[in-house]
Amino acid sequence: LAKGNGRNSYCFFHSDLNDALTRKVKIENELRRAIERNQLVLYYQPIVDLKTGQPTGVEALVRWFHPEMGSISPAEFIPIAEETGQIIPIGDWVLETACKQNLAWQKEGLPPVTISVNVSVRQFQHTDFIAKVKNVLETTGHKPALLELEITESIMQNVNESINILKQLKDIGVKTAIDDFGTGYSSLHILKKLPIDTIKVDKLFIDDITDEANQPIVKTIIDIGANLNLRVIAEGIETIEQANILTQYQCHFGQGYLYSKPVPAEMVPGTFRGQIK
Ligand code: C2E
Ligand code: MG
Ligand code: MG
Ligand code: MG
Repeated sequence: LAKGNGRNSYCFFHSDLNDALTRKVKIENELRRAIERNQLVLYYQPIVDLKTGQPTGVEALVRWFHPEMGSISPAEFIPIAEETGQIIPIGDWVLETACKQNLAWQKEGLPPVTISVNVSVRQFQHTDFIAKVKNVLETTGHKPALLELEITESIMQNVNESINILKQLKDIGVKTAIDDFGTGYSSLHILKKLPIDTIKVDKLFIDDITDEANQPIVKTIIDIGANLNLRVIAEGIETIEQANILTQYQCHFGQGYLYSKPVPAEMVPGTFRGQIK
């Protein structure tokens, strides 16, 4: 590079890219031993009845606390785990840990609640997936109907295969939800064919819901859910204004910082004893 400043910006860019790549490689390597080193933890976020504010379930959200790298967001490491295939052992661990935890709460006297577990497409389409779900339910004794698996719209790219998997889950008695609804590979034509129970309206739509121009879309999504006999959960509710609009639109369930952030397992019983609004 001929120019002085051109060369500087080249170097700056190069080292930035290098840092990002080094971090990614480090995450890939460290992730392989994260489970055995007990670095993964599940946090849980209540899903509430919007009319009463009472929790009806919890979503399990994985956290990774690395001794040197600190807390690493699932938004960063889950996509890497999906690429490397590590999502399979991680997903197995999440499913088993979440079911065991839900049973532990019941033993502590909590009313039976639904536990929602995020499942990556790669995990969902893995040949062993159904057998693994069955196995976890059998070995733990967890009720199938109290487990809801969250998958994203990207499963619609292989519609027939996905419908087949969803049907098998329905036969087992497990519930299913489409997560981040409205942001991905959406087709209303396909949606009506999916044997699912719930749609989760993405936070993106809730963020700007107080702006009147954006309300018709959210209202329509909620109505479509209701017309297809699906449970509708609004994600990422942060203000009472947002909650009020959603209730007005007959959206029955929600989750978000307004009610509770994701919390460690030991804090969940407290949220069920009326400590959240
Ligand atoms: P998601 O499944 O859509 O989860 C909702 C995300 O929104 C969570 O981020 C949650 O902490 C955050 N959230 C909830 N309410 C609010 C709010 O009011 N305001 C804001 N700003 N954020 C809110 P988190 O825990 O960082 O997880 C990010 C994503 O990582 C999840 O999105 C999910 O796609 C993925 N993920 C997390 N745990 C797992 C897992 O065990 N397995 C798989 N496959 N994916 C996971
Ligand atoms: Mg989710
Ligand atoms: Mg979501
Ligand atoms: Mg998401």
